Amino acid sequence: MECLFCDLVSKKKPSHIVYEDDSAVAMLDIFPRSQGHTIVVPKVHAETILDLPDDQVGPLFLAVKKMTQILKNKLNPDGFTIGINHGKVSGQAIDHLHIHIIPRFKGDNGGSIHTIVDNPSGMSLEEVEEKIIS
Ligand SMILES: [Zn+2]
Repeated sequence: MECLFCDLVSKKKPSHIVYEDDSAVAMLDIFPRSQGHTIVVPKVHAETILDLPDDQVGPLFLAVKKMTQILKNKLNPDGFTIGINHGKVSGQAIDHLHIHIIPRFKGDNGGSIHTIVDNPSGMSLEEVEEKIIS
């Protein structure tokens, strides 16, 4: 199976790895949206978080925490946006789960996660809640 991120994680292809542990690799995004824009990639191939084995979820998010701390210490941003593009419709370009850590700086003119999409269903919160929990 051809997978760019599997090749980067296994170092078959070069990348800018800035953190690595037993479960995950963090590398600089090649199309950075801010200084230090990093992606954290699980070493096992999983297309989305729903495909990631349960025992890998915790270690992956621990790697996200550690990488965020490193970026805070080294680059001193004012905040972060941390997120996953899950599925083509959301903008997932590589079919291997990766979590973006985007350092945010005062005055960077970026928006919050709420600016990504504005498509409420028209249903009440109670109707949506019932749909989810029933
Ligand atoms: Zn892969």
